[in-house]
Amino acid sequence: MRKKIIIGNWKMHKGPHAAMQLAKSIKLKLTDIRKTEVAVCPPSISIESVRSIVKGSRIKLGAQNMYLHKFGAYTGEISGEMIKESGCDYVLIGHSERRQHFHETDVLVNHKIEFALNDGLTPVVCVGETLSEREKNETESIIENQIRHAFKNISEENAEKIVLAYEPVWAIGTGKNASVDEADAVHEFIRQTLMNLYTRSLADKILIQYGGSVKPENAHALLSSKNIDGALIGGASLEAESFASIVHIAEKLG
Ligand code: PEP
Repeated sequence: MRKKIIIGNWKMHKGPHAAMQLAKSIKLKLTDIRKTEVAVCPPSISIESVRSIVKGSRIKLGAQNMYLHKFGAYTGEISGEMIKESGCDYVLIGHSERRQHFHETDVLVNHKIEFALNDGLTPVVCVGETLSEREKNETESIIENQIRHAFKNISEENAEKIVLAYEPVWAIGTGKNASVDEADAVHEFIRQTLMNLYTRSLADKILIQYGGSVKPENAHALLSSKNIDGALIGGASLEAESFASIVHIAEKLG
């Protein structure tokens, strides 16, 4: 059985001090978690302060982005190696906000995944369709294309380490979430695509999170779904209360 995985994406919120406060509150509320994999992704500048709080707890750390290459003349960027050294286990790759505002392509996403795996990080690879793509019935072709690119040249051994997050772009930060049936159908389609690319047993092992306006109110229905292995949470991860309550829902279902 796949474990449940809940990750908070703090986006560009919480500088080092505020991040430390939030991490403290989350840690206090999650002392009883035994099975669920939990991570938070603060802005890079706050990773160190959050690390000082979550060290020794079950709460892991992730970065929200990384660049290719280990070091070099890439002003403003950070490498996977640096992220690993700062205590992170995870890195978000291909979040729709990166694709949209920073013009990240599927090819770049694939290269970042390769670098992240080489640096010993677990890539959390985000895929999802826009509203107009959904309305044109292109959801499956868009997702399949994103998955095929993401896993290009990734060995079976490495593919197994990747976490996927299905995040319909129209549901991110909008308060609209996909219905459980809509989300589950896309998750099933993703697993089928992975099976076509690799094997059934590998597809069955990969964790696929749902993301897009997940809140305590809808988390139980989404997380109870057969093909949904967890949640990537934006807005609701900025409050200890709501983030912890989603983790507790996952823990009960896990
Ligand atoms: C996200 O940023 O990955 C996300 C899912 O945001 P929200 O939960 O706010 O929709």
